[in-house]
Amino acid sequence: MEHLDELQAYAEAVSGCTRCRLAQDRTQVVFGSGNPRADLLFVGEAPGFHEDKQGLPFVGQAGKLLEKLLAGIGLARSDVYIANVLMCRPPGNRDPQPDEIEACESHLFRKLELIEPIVVATLGNFATKLLSGRPLGITRVHGQEQEATIGGRTVLLYPLYHPAAALYTPAMLKVLEEDFARLPDLIGRSVATTPEPAPHLTPVAAEPAVQLGLF
Ligand code: URA
Repeated sequence: MEHLDELQAYAEAVSGCTRCRLAQDRTQVVFGSGNPRADLLFVGEAPGFHEDKQGLPFVGQAGKLLEKLLAGIGLARSDVYIANVLMCRPPGNRDPQPDEIEACESHLFRKLELIEPIVVATLGNFATKLLSGRPLGITRVHGQEQEATIGGRTVLLYPLYHPAAALYTPAMLKVLEEDFARLPDLIGRSVATTPEPAPHLTPVAAEPAVQLGLF
């Protein structure tokens, strides 16, 4: 509950954000939605027409595809958290401008701090370049996980093609599906790297080291 409260309080605090020019034309801030304790955080680009109207990320055609891809790995929207690089819709869905990204990035970093995901899947070029801190495009880096420290927290960054780009390009969709299929493993693998409590073993009186034979 604590995370939900903090995230909700933060969403309310930034609902009137005027840090950049996008505040002028937006219908509303699209903060993000999903499980506030999600292990998997998706970061897209920016709200489009439908997202701006509804106040929720990925509710248009690209969102439908994202939901389908999630279902393919046994997850629903409510299992993950979905956010964007920008919280406000750029007019005519134009590309985010560098100063808009800069104005909005601390909002994204704060979400990451509060949600504490294990894997951050960046959808497309803008999220990938921002969160990797590298200029490499999505075509080069998709499907290649890398550790990244964001907002003081180490996560597994996993770049993916943007679903909107895959909507009309079957070859890209196939790659996106293949990259998606690795997500459950990446979440599990990262979990497994954190030390687990020792298994409960019944003490054996004699020669314990030999008898336990754990290694
Ligand atoms: N595309 C995005 O990048 N984000 C959305 O929320 C919707 C479409």
